[in-house]
Amino acid sequence: MSVLIVGSVALDDIKTTTAEHRDLLGGSASYASVAASFYTPVSMVGIVGDDFPEVHRDTFRNRGINIDGLEVVQGKTFRWSGEYEEDMNNRRTLSVELNVFEHFSPKIPTRSRQTPYVLLANIAPSLQAHVLDQVEAPKFVVADTMDLWISLARPDLLALIKRVDMLILNDSEARQFTGERNAVKAGRKILELGPRYVVVKKGEHGALLFSRDNFFATGAFPLEDIADPTGAGDCFAGALIGYLAKTDDISFESIKKAVIQGTLAASFNVEAFSLKRLERLTREEIDIRHGEFSRYISVNGAH
Ligand code: AMP
Repeated sequence: MSVLIVGSVALDDIKTTTAEHRDLLGGSASYASVAASFYTPVSMVGIVGDDFPEVHRDTFRNRGINIDGLEVVQGKTFRWSGEYEEDMNNRRTLSVELNVFEHFSPKIPTRSRQTPYVLLANIAPSLQAHVLDQVEAPKFVVADTMDLWISLARPDLLALIKRVDMLILNDSEARQFTGERNAVKAGRKILELGPRYVVVKKGEHGALLFSRDNFFATGAFPLEDIADPTGAGDCFAGALIGYLAKTDDISFESIKKAVIQGTLAASFNVEAFSLKRLERLTREEIDIRHGEFSRYISVNGAH
C-alpha cells in the first residue's frame, strides 16, 4: 500500500553549539517522505520556488519518492532557521520566511487521491483539511502539528482532528493544547476531541500511544551523540505511516510496532544534519538497530 504525504519543503539554516549549516534540505514533508520511503512507495505533495536546488530533488528521486505533486512556482522556497542550545531539547526559531508557501494550496494529483494511507505532515491545519477534502475514502489518516498552530489556528486544528485517525504532537504541545500539565492526562483529553489514536512524543524520553481502550509507552533509542534534532518528529511520523501502509494492518498491535519504527527512524535522523543520515541509511541498519532496541526493552521473565 502506498502513502501520500503533504507538508512543507524547506531550505533550513541550522546552528548548534558545535556546527552551523545553511541551505539544508528541510521541511516536514521532506523528512517524513524520506523516512516513509524505507517501508513503502511514497507520493509527496508540497511547493518550492524556482531557487530549489536540483540536488535536493535528487534526494527524493534516489529514495524512489514520487514528486509529481511537488509544485514549482516563481519565487523563493520556504525558509526556516533555528538554533539549538547545549541542551538540544531547547531550540529557538531565528527566522521564518514563508515565500512561495504564503499562497500554497495543496493540489493532490488525480492518481494520488485514492491513496489509502495519508500523512498530513506539519503545515497549517486549514491546508491539512484542504488535503482531506481531495482524498477519497482513505483507510488511515495521521496528522502532525506544532505549537504555532495550537496558538494561532486552534479552531481549525480542533475541526481537523475530528477528521483524522491519529494526531501526533510533542509533550509540550499536548500540554499547550489541553492546559493539562500531565502528558498522560493531556493525551487522554485529546482523544476526547476526536482522533481514535494520539501519540505524544517526549523527545529523548520516547513516546506515548493512546487509544480509548489501550495504551503503549516506549523509550527512545539511547544515543550518545546528537548532531541535529531537526526533523526527528517528522521522521517519526513518516516511518510510522510507512510501516502501517507496508503491513496494511491498523490494529493496535501493528500501531505499536509502527511507533517503534518511528522511534528508530528518528534516532537515525538526529545523527547528522538535514537528511544526510537517512540518505545513506540502509534497510539492514534499521533491522540491526531494531534488534538492539528489542533487546534493550525486553525483560525476560517479568510479569
Ligand atoms: P521539527 O524538528 O520536527 O519541528 O521539524 C523541523 C522542520 O519543520 C524544519 O525542516 C522546518 O523547515 C519545518 N518547519 C518549521 N516551521 C514550519 C512551519 N511553520 N510550517 C511548516 N514547516 C515548518
